[in-house]
Amino acid sequence: MFRSLALCLAFLATPALAEAPAHEAFGAARSPAPGEARVYGSYAKGCHAGGVQLAADGPGWAAMRLSRDRRWAHPALADFVARLAARARAAGLGGLLIGDMGQPRGGPMKSGHRSHQTGLDVDIWLRPLSEKRPDATAREALSSWDVVQGRATLFEGLWRRSSARAIPLAAQDPAVARIFVHPVIKRALCAETAGTARPWMSKIRPWWGHDAHFHVRLACPAGSPECVDQAPPPAGEGCGAALDWWFTDEPYSGSSSPRKDLTMADLPPACRAVVDAN
Ligand SMILES: [Zn+2]
Repeated sequence: MFRSLALCLAFLATPALAEAPAHEAFGAARSPAPGEARVYGSYAKGCHAGGVQLAADGPGWAAMRLSRDRRWAHPALADFVARLAARARAAGLGGLLIGDMGQPRGGPMKSGHRSHQTGLDVDIWLRPLSEKRPDATAREALSSWDVVQGRATLFEGLWRRSSARAIPLAAQDPAVARIFVHPVIKRALCAETAGTARPWMSKIRPWWGHDAHFHVRLACPAGSPECVDQAPPPAGEGCGAALDWWFTDEPYSGSSSPRKDLTMADLPPACRAVVDAN
C-alpha cells in the first residue's frame, strides 16, 4: 500500500502531467473559430470566436510582419483600424503600419504579449507608412522607429514625423478604452494639447515598453456578454503628478516576476470549445 501511494505521488509530480500551456493549442489554430464574433474573458486571459483577418493593405494602412500571422481580431478592431487610417488621412497625417493584433482564435501566445488575447488589442508602429508600400520582404525586415532617447527624452525629428500624431484621433474614438504609450509620449501629448478640452486624455496610459509603437485597446464590443472589461482608467487627464512617477527610478527598479504559462484552466471554459471547434 505504501509502495503504491509512493508511486501515485511520483505519478502526480511528473511534470509531463502538468496541463500543457494554452499557447500550444491556440498557437496551432490556423483559422478563426466558426460562428458569430464573440469575445470570452479578459484581455490577458481570454479568446474569441468569429475572428477576422485584417487585410494586409488598405487605404492608409499596411500590416507588418505578415509571417507572424497575428493580424486576427474581433471585427470591431479591424473596423477600428480602417476608421483610424481614414481619419489620419483626412487630417493630413501619414499612413499607419500595423503590428501585432492576435492569433486566429486569440488566446495566449508563445512569445511577446501577455494581452492581445481577445481580438481587441492592436499595436500601431510609430514609424509611418511611406509613399511606397513595403513589399513582403520589407515587412519582415523593417523596424519601427524608437522615438525615445534614454528614459525621458524624445528624438524630436522622429517624433514630429511619427504616427504618434494619430494617438489623439485614436483616443477620441468611442470604441477605444485605453491606449498604452511611453511616458515621454504621454508627457509630450499633454504639453502639445495643453489649454484645450481633452476628455480623451485619460485614455492615454503611460506604460513600459512602448517606445516604438502605441497599443490601442478597444472596450468590450456589443454582443459579447462574456467579455470582461478592464476597470476604466482613473479620472482626470493623468498629465500631472501621476505622470511624474514615471520619471523617477521607481518604475524601472523592480525585478519583473517570471512569466507563468497560462493553461486552459486559467481561461474561461468557453475558450476550450473555441480552440477545439472545427
Ligand atoms: Zn501591444
